[in-house]
Amino acid sequence: MPTPNYKVLIVGLDGATFDLMLPWIEEGKLPNLARIMRSGAKSPLESTVPPITPCAWSSFMTGKNPGKHGLFDFIEPDDNHGFKFTNASYRDGETLWGCLSRHGRRVGVVNVPMTFPPEPVNGFLISGLDTPHDLSAFMYPVEVRSELKMAGIKYRIDQQHLGNMRTDERRRAQLDDIFACERDRTTAFQLLSEQRPCDFRMIVFGSTDQVQHHFWHFMDASHDKHDAAGAEKFSTAILDTYVHCDEQLGILLDECDDDTIVVIMSDHGFGPMSNVRVRVNQILAEAGLLKFVESSAPGKLKQSLAAWLDRMIRSTLSSDAKRRIAGMLPRLRTWFETLDETQINWDETSAYVNEAYRSSPAIWLNRLQDLDEGEVAELRDRIEQIMLSLVDPQTGEPVITHLARPSELYHGPHSSKAPDLLPAWWTDGFLLDQSMPAAAGLPNVERSTAPLEGGVEFAASHRLDGVFMISGGPISPEFSFSDAKIVDVTPTVLYLMGLPIPDDMDGKVLVEAIDSDFLAANPIRYESTEDGAVSEVDNAPRGFSKDESEMIARRLQALGYIQ
Ligand SMILES: [Zn+2]
Repeated sequence: MPTPNYKVLIVGLDGATFDLMLPWIEEGKLPNLARIMRSGAKSPLESTVPPITPCAWSSFMTGKNPGKHGLFDFIEPDDNHGFKFTNASYRDGETLWGCLSRHGRRVGVVNVPMTFPPEPVNGFLISGLDTPHDLSAFMYPVEVRSELKMAGIKYRIDQQHLGNMRTDERRRAQLDDIFACERDRTTAFQLLSEQRPCDFRMIVFGSTDQVQHHFWHFMDASHDKHDAAGAEKFSTAILDTYVHCDEQLGILLDECDDDTIVVIMSDHGFGPMSNVRVRVNQILAEAGLLKFVESSAPGKLKQSLAAWLDRMIRSTLSSDAKRRIAGMLPRLRTWFETLDETQINWDETSAYVNEAYRSSPAIWLNRLQDLDEGEVAELRDRIEQIMLSLVDPQTGEPVITHLARPSELYHGPHSSKAPDLLPAWWTDGFLLDQSMPAAAGLPNVERSTAPLEGGVEFAASHRLDGVFMISGGPISPEFSFSDAKIVDVTPTVLYLMGLPIPDDMDGKVLVEAIDSDFLAANPIRYESTEDGAVSEVDNAPRGFSKDESEMIARRLQALGYIQ
């Protein structure tokens, strides 16, 4: 038998979950996903801890655990107690498309998160949501931009109406625009693939993630913040999004030949968030582990001004006006990046979270404190006990049932850069709230009864298990298994494309899904990474400029990741 040499198409559906997808497939609502599922194999796809976009997609594309690639989140602490935004240049390790290019395979990659700046590949690459702006250099090769323009395709990084979903009209406009933006993405992907035939192609759709974050409470009558009136208009928004993605998949499947293996994957799963809100810095302050700067009148004024501006920018203005005002107020960003809003006294603080960044609360020890190993272990234990003892005021049940310790989960040169403790919001379903030291008396844990703030507050968020489906070539039809991990996808693709697997990858070939005769005839091959065979494109981090950081901040804010 000749060496396997299949082509591969990966369609990424950010945050897609089998909890929704499988029933809708059974009901006949997603015919193209049904086609892939019935003709191939499927498994839940275990994400990284934490199950968030930057960390998970990076583990997918490198086949490595986060301790090796070092890209844990949208932000990482800088030397000055602030945070900086990350991008692909902060990641270590060869990507799947880098590896394929090195072996002379042609690749086409569109909108995979954390691929900015675009790496030079043997083919084309359009970066994803870490791209600061539609005018940034986010396409490789540079001609791609003019080719798309000449073909009349308006390629956009994101939607125009993001971040403002307080009225039904804005919600509808948001949904329409998300779908339009993604239809343009598909068209661009098709055009570029025609001009540059590829062996490997990948496109990611982000609508599943965005719409699930902000529309779950319309669909789910048991949600703590279910909106029955809004449900009349938006209860099918998430289903409509899956149907829209299924249609995009259909367009792409129509072009695939028999030698193409198709993979559907998500970077993490999804599920509802409760109305439990936790103020972690306030809790740490009460335990004597964090000290706020003595509250001054200007400090109070600044907090209320920031809150007012934030509300105004999100709710009342048109997109254009919002942009102009946000452009006039670069300080808004600096507040976030220096944790200024919470006014921490660093000399007297041992541990903290960045509360402005609410999507994945991470507890950090103050690294300027020069703690020895024993002290670090003791502090982590103590904080863990405090967090585990928090109770829900309504039920008396624990709010946080588990805290992950990345340093014990990850292995590799970047493990020590990881946060110290990660409260498991992805199983416990609580959200972080802002500690306001100037406003005394806010509870540490509360049940938020206010209606969900459209476009600002998450109705739902990530879960550990994403989706994985694979079909074509030697893949077993109608087969289900259960132990696929996100790091396994890249080694599996390399194997099916007839290439050796770099021996520093943590993932494995998903042999369960592959025909046993094929496996016997085509043993898995490895290549050593020690002799320098594996090249990395450029390892110098390319930090964002101040303007770019602001643009990224605004996008993450609009998506609801930061407040
Ligand atoms: Zn998300």
